[in-house]
Amino acid sequence: MKKYLLALVLIGFIGCSSSLKNLSESKKEVQQYYDSGEHGLELANIIDDAINKFDGIKLSGKPAAVFDVDETTLSNYKYIKSISFGYYKEGWYKWVLKEDADAILQTKKLYDHLVERGVTIFFLTGRNYKEYEATLKNLKAEGYTEFDTLICKQEDELKLDASMYKPEKRKEIEAKGYNIVINVGDQLSDLEGGYSKLKIKLPNYLYEIK
Ligand SMILES: [Mg+2]
Repeated sequence: MKKYLLALVLIGFIGCSSSLKNLSESKKEVQQYYDSGEHGLELANIIDDAINKFDGIKLSGKPAAVFDVDETTLSNYKYIKSISFGYYKEGWYKWVLKEDADAILQTKKLYDHLVERGVTIFFLTGRNYKEYEATLKNLKAEGYTEFDTLICKQEDELKLDASMYKPEKRKEIEAKGYNIVINVGDQLSDLEGGYSKLKIKLPNYLYEIK
């Protein structure tokens, strides 16, 4: 009987030994990472490294750079935090139309560096054609004024995963005679699929996009 009880107690302990954290605890950790400046520091290091790597490349032809928008050039952190780290389509759309996302200054530093060196900038985002005007205004208001095109998803592209849609768009840019030297994004799906010499991955602990 004692052995039986001991086994039950052990099973009980094993049952409670999941490494899962309570959701509210996980949210606190993510918020701490962003609010403490750790995220900013991590970004700064990655961007400085990217600038060094870029400067080591000999430019030729028509050099271009591709930047993703959300959590790469513009931060939506204050909105996402305000809804307690969730996502819902209508809320997101209203937020985009406010044109209130902040420039990510570390990325802005790389962008300025590339513009100074005569690199043509393309913004390539999973935001859709209905969000085009607001995104354009938001980018310009935040200092991203020098670029060739802001590429948004068209109606027939809405269902495409980023990992399919984005390489196709980079291929189209190169087909116009550009040579994409650097591609910057916060998602692996921003960077997969080729058509760029350098791939710069920025950290994002808020969401994941396939
Ligand atoms: Mg993004």
